Amino acid sequence: MKALVAVKRVVDYNVKVRVKSDNTGVDIANVKMSMNPFDEIAVEEAVRLKEKGIVTEVIAVSCGPTQAQETLRTAMAIGADRGILVESAEELQPLAVAKLLKAVQDKEQAELIILGKQAIDDDSNQVGQMLAALLDLPQATFASKVEVADGKASVTREVDGGLETLSISLPAVVTTDLRLNEPRYVTLPNIMKAKKKPIDTMKPEDLGVDVTSRLKTLKVAEPAKRSAGIIVPDVTTLVDKLKNEAKVI
Ligand code: AMP
Repeated sequence: MKALVAVKRVVDYNVKVRVKSDNTGVDIANVKMSMNPFDEIAVEEAVRLKEKGIVTEVIAVSCGPTQAQETLRTAMAIGADRGILVESAEELQPLAVAKLLKAVQDKEQAELIILGKQAIDDDSNQVGQMLAALLDLPQATFASKVEVADGKASVTREVDGGLETLSISLPAVVTTDLRLNEPRYVTLPNIMKAKKKPIDTMKPEDLGVDVTSRLKTLKVAEPAKRSAGIIVPDVTTLVDKLKNEAKVI
């Protein structure tokens, strides 16, 4: 069974992002980039399934600039067998990414397609769902547990008020939530091994996908600065301030 895992190169989660002075977007020049954390969880899950003997090959795919190769190398250092880079210098919006992933899946015919639930740069939470729709495959999003057996996946999801378990037939699309697993620490020997693993590079045109943007960003702005709070000595003062100063009660 093949597992296809989508990995996105994003601004590292530790970086405090800054808005460009012309308000057209976020400044990513000279900023540390890493694999989207939810995608690391996706790769880890696929690799664990391989270690259990359920999955036979883990293929990592990334859509983005040439540097997304580094993200694929990280995926391969975690344990993916090979990488696919769909190279594009354009800004790739979720629908374009979903179409590219569909084209890759059409070629690879993986049984399990694992994505992160969301990319921490644009916070869209769209690609997995769009991909499942384009492929007309079952989807189980926000997985906190995945078990695969007999051509089916049993996926536990965190929902409001508890846990829900879905049984879906494979092939299917699964998106990962934070508590699915804790990705392993990438070791130097595995980083060295990953350098020898193959990466297949293609362009959106090779896959017949038009990646033209459908949405236009009008303006990006910093959130308004919060003013400092105060500490009140007791509940009576708090109620008094809420009533007479803030006038909210
Ligand atoms: P999003 O819908 O943009 O929040 O992204 C959800 C998931 O789709 C991510 O966690 C990735 O697994 C996948 N994804 C999004 N953009 C890309 C990309 N450019 N290349 C590969 N995978 C992506």
